[in-house]
Amino acid sequence: MNTVAFPARWTRRPSTLVEPELAQRVALVSGANRGLGLEVTRQLAASGMTVLLGSRDASAGERAARQLRSEGGNVFVAPLDVTSPADVYALAKRIERDYGRLDILVNNAGACFDAGNEASSVDMTIVRQALEINLLGAWQLTEAMLPLMRRHDYGRIVNVSSGCGAIDSECASSPAYRVSKAALNSHTRMLAMELGGSGILVNAVCPGWVATDMGGHGGRPVAEGAAGIVWAATLPSRPALNGGFFRDRMRIDW
Ligand code: NDP
Repeated sequence: MNTVAFPARWTRRPSTLVEPELAQRVALVSGANRGLGLEVTRQLAASGMTVLLGSRDASAGERAARQLRSEGGNVFVAPLDVTSPADVYALAKRIERDYGRLDILVNNAGACFDAGNEASSVDMTIVRQALEINLLGAWQLTEAMLPLMRRHDYGRIVNVSSGCGAIDSECASSPAYRVSKAALNSHTRMLAMELGGSGILVNAVCPGWVATDMGGHGGRPVAEGAAGIVWAATLPSRPALNGGFFRDRMRIDW
């Protein structure tokens, strides 16, 4: 797919950007101790870059990172609860101190607490939790990490979303999850518009139905779901695919 997501008027600044070598790149994946995040980390590390494996449970994160290092990856654990501003800003400081850059941010951490619920009656505590993790967690982490991308005029931000968040989705179950992903999609478009021409590309990716703890049995293999996320995290600068919603590298409807 060789088209830009936005009309030309949304791309304000000209870009004269040099892409960092793969081995130079530093990536951060949130919620990476298991499921899609773990596999995205594995695949990014396989390309030779340094990957920080975000995990709110430090020991689960360290176990996962150790496993990926034993496979040859340059992977280090990054303690990170995306709902904790203290965690988020401490990590931004640490990345600045240790690497002085961040090239890739995969906002993967997510949760769904309201399968089987409906919008007319779902508990508001659950709705708030979904928004805290799936929307505000990604938003805040992005704000904290953006200065590390702007510094080198290069960045790839991938918001791991879901077809459930598509505005014309016809299913009424999991309303809090759906609204949180629809809002994440909206944030993706807004940020992409703001950053047009900056060298930082922002896209949303649906991994499809994947057989993780969240997806359950019957979904596709985790490696397949992760591949579309890794693709968006390693997009070339030309053509500048920015502000799109993708599944398996194909554009899908918002
Ligand atoms: P899993 O439930 O397998 O893994 C979720 C990950 O997110 C875990 O590592 C979990 O950490 C982490 N997480 C949850 N809350 C937080 C938090 N507050 N801070 C940091 N990490 C957190 O889910 P998947 O791997 O299936 O999903 C990954 C992403 O893909 C999600 O955004 C999901 O919405 C999306 N997605 C998944 C689909 C599927 O079919 N699986 C379909 C469409 C989208 P912990 O282990 O500590 O709980």
